Amino acid sequence: KHIKAVSQKVKLFRANEPLLSVFMWGINHTVNELSHVNIPVMLMPDDFKAYTKTKVDNHCFNKENLPSHFKVKEYCPLVFRNLREKFGINDTEYMNSMTSAEPVYNDSPGRSGARFLISADKKYVIKTISREEVEMMHNIIKQYHQFTVEHHGKTLLPHYLGMYRITVDGAETYLIVMRSVLSTTLNIHKKFDLKGSTVDRRASDKEKAKELPTFKDNDFVDKNHKIYIGKEGKEELLAQLKIDVVFLSELKLMDYSLLVGIHDIEKAEQEYQEEMEVESNGVGDSGDQDDDSGSNTAFTPPDSPQPASATMSTFQQQLPVLPGQFDSETDIFAIKSSPEAPRKEIYFMALIDILTHWGAKKRAAQAAKTVKHGAGAEISTVKPEQYSRRFMEFIGKVIE
Ligand code: AMP
Ligand code: AMP
Repeated sequence: KHIKAVSQKVKLFRANEPLLSVFMWGINHTVNELSHVNIPVMLMPDDFKAYTKTKVDNHCFNKENLPSHFKVKEYCPLVFRNLREKFGINDTEYMNSMTSAEPVYNDSPGRSGARFLISADKKYVIKTISREEVEMMHNIIKQYHQFTVEHHGKTLLPHYLGMYRITVDGAETYLIVMRSVLSTTLNIHKKFDLKGSTVDRRASDKEKAKELPTFKDNDFVDKNHKIYIGKEGKEELLAQLKIDVVFLSELKLMDYSLLVGIHDIEKAEQEYQEEMEVESNGVGDSGDQDDDSGSNTAFTPPDSPQPASATMSTFQQQLPVLPGQFDSETDIFAIKSSPEAPRKEIYFMALIDILTHWGAKKRAAQAAKTVKHGAGAEISTVKPEQYSRRFMEFIGKVIE
């Protein structure tokens, strides 16, 4: 009985794999710790190099839920807290999004080998990154923070919210959390990753076999796709992109992409009809069928305490949202197609993958590509400034 009383207060972080349980534990721990730290009037230079480290060694304790030995390191905690605030994200909500239910793996690891998760409420993505990317993040974080403050969080750059190192069984994993570009509620029917290059920029057959493949520049051009957001929408988007891209090329960053998610309203209407029919036949399970990864089955055993917040149960019991309707407070990157557009669509667009520096690695890649395609071939490994110009030109051409 006594144990039961204690367990009411203890949150469980039992996920499908140890790394995830520790990540959830780590977010809960670091956000709680931070809540006891005063918010400084301004950040100091040292805050951009700071970190916290927590080492846990349990002996025969709670081992059904967590590994017995693990470590969590959070990088620049005060800076990221301030960034979350600038991006309008409340720390408690951030914690609940990550810990009320287990984040879900997106799809199989891509070419980079990076793994990719999405919080159960779909607000945040969690990406494994390399040691080099952690280093690069440290190199740019001051400028990135300053830029974010100057623009009051209004930017299409990735909204970075936290960076962590998790150590389980001696293996280190670096993770970065950012806001999802895509919708938290609407289905995405097509997804593109655009760079403005046409060499090697076509989705592979393996990619196309996925449920929601990430198509690339050539696929976009081949299909004669356009992003129909009207003259004003175009001007506004390009102006914002320009500011962000200039910032990136000043930092000598390149190889970033514009992620474009498309919600097709007509398709969504069909899906909605079908779902309603299923519901009225009494066979439906309230729409919780968007993936088969068992996102929430392992987390809450029948007799475990309910999470403090109602987030998990509310989004799981939601009826399908009405086609084309979204909450612009949450889906901040959403733009509706213009009235003149041939199709009614909603676009979700922002920059991703900005942490590649024009350095030794890129020069090596350029040499290799020049050999392969000839010196005149248009390649995606050009210098940052050139990259940004070509990028803007391409995006300018695909928007109407
Ligand atoms: P570690 O946290 O030691 O695993 O570091 C991961 C990577 O981030 C290494 O390449 C470090 O050089 C870099 N890094 C970690 N902390 C800092 C810091 N305070 N300033 C600059 N780079 C850092
Ligand atoms: P990356 O490894 O960063 O190139 O990402 C691989 C894929 O994950 C991209 O093509 C996107 O489909 C998706 N992705 C990356 N970042 C985000 C984000 N911030 N929001 C939503 N999806 C993302």
